[in-house]
Amino acid sequence: MTETTGIPVVLKTDNGVETPVREFLGQMLDSGAVDALIMPLKVPSGDSFAWILLNDAGMLDDAVPFPAVMPVQGARALRSLTRKEKGDLTVLALMRPCEIRAGIELSKLGQVNTDNLILATYDCPGAIPLQDYVNDPESSEASFKEMFTTGEPGENAKPACRTCVNFSAVDSDLHFGFLGISDEGMLVIPGSTRGAELLQKMDIQSETGDKLLPLWKSEVESILKKRTAARDIAFKKTESDIKGFSGMLNVFSNCIGCHNCQSACPICYCRLCYFGSEASRSNPEALMNQAIKRGGISLPPERIMFHTGRLAHMSLSCVSCGQCSDACPVSIPVADVFSFVAEQTQSTFEYKAGRNDGKPLPLRDFKKSELPGVHELVKDAEPGGASHE
Ligand code: SF4
Ligand code: SF4
Repeated sequence: MTETTGIPVVLKTDNGVETPVREFLGQMLDSGAVDALIMPLKVPSGDSFAWILLNDAGMLDDAVPFPAVMPVQGARALRSLTRKEKGDLTVLALMRPCEIRAGIELSKLGQVNTDNLILATYDCPGAIPLQDYVNDPESSEASFKEMFTTGEPGENAKPACRTCVNFSAVDSDLHFGFLGISDEGMLVIPGSTRGAELLQKMDIQSETGDKLLPLWKSEVESILKKRTAARDIAFKKTESDIKGFSGMLNVFSNCIGCHNCQSACPICYCRLCYFGSEASRSNPEALMNQAIKRGGISLPPERIMFHTGRLAHMSLSCVSCGQCSDACPVSIPVADVFSFVAEQTQSTFEYKAGRNDGKPLPLRDFKKSELPGVHELVKDAEPGGASHE
């Protein structure tokens, strides 16, 4: 669990959890502690949410701090604001833990600048699958309310949320915590020096949360145990499902090659993906040669290559947010596969995507001493055995 930095404060939750957060954020704007906020707002049709950059505290009445769904991964909103430069304003972004973690990954890839961003997150019970919400917003809201009350994702949450082990206490500047203490209120926990300074600057008249903090930590630990067990079971199933080329072929047999999974992924940011480029198109002669060699090939040919290529490219940074599965029109469990493979690649490099612990992204900082077997392979594959050093 990420350590707290400084003393948490308590917000009273007699009027539910959203009102005190709106008031707290309004106070931040009014006091000048931050210049603007990024948070979700319900769209006029009422069946989804959109990210909004706001600096008028009056607009907070329409903002939804804890939305039931995540249509656009929040890290994409952070990227659109700061990709070119950090800007002059201090902006607080309130997002789910997986969105904050994806934002941190993108900052390591030079796609998000966090210098002037205050990253705030909360105990996330999970999200409702987007299609379920669009089909029936009312009962989806009811399911989400239930999830929020129990802190458990339940049957109606996205599959990725049911096995998420990063639902709380991830690296951030501020964390809204209510697990195990909801009768007493909600904690605003500083997770960085910047977060602690911000709370001091606001001079909030509130009791401190020292006594509640251990209760919150213990509930987070207890839910973490359950989620870890659920994740281990899910990983075992995925491992057996994708075994060998035939396993992958089976899992992705209905793939229509729409690339929605890639478009929805916060980590896939390349403007031109190889799999969308001219270079990826095979010529008829090469395809015919393969067909002759194997007796037959499926067309279009790059379906499995697209997924394995994407895995090789970004699984070190996958934050298991589940957006790829949510975006798939034929219900392929893309996130199950990517999360399972991500766990293998990240543990190989003793790396955890979404941590802000000073560790660089492994393949951006590859050293000869790491994975000597791979180094030898690369050397052998190059003309004259040239080194990559
Ligand atoms: S691959 Fe899927 S689960 Fe992983 S970060 Fe991308 S959208 Fe999220
Ligand atoms: S979203 Fe689904 S159908 Fe489309 S490319 Fe990805 S896995 Fe295939």
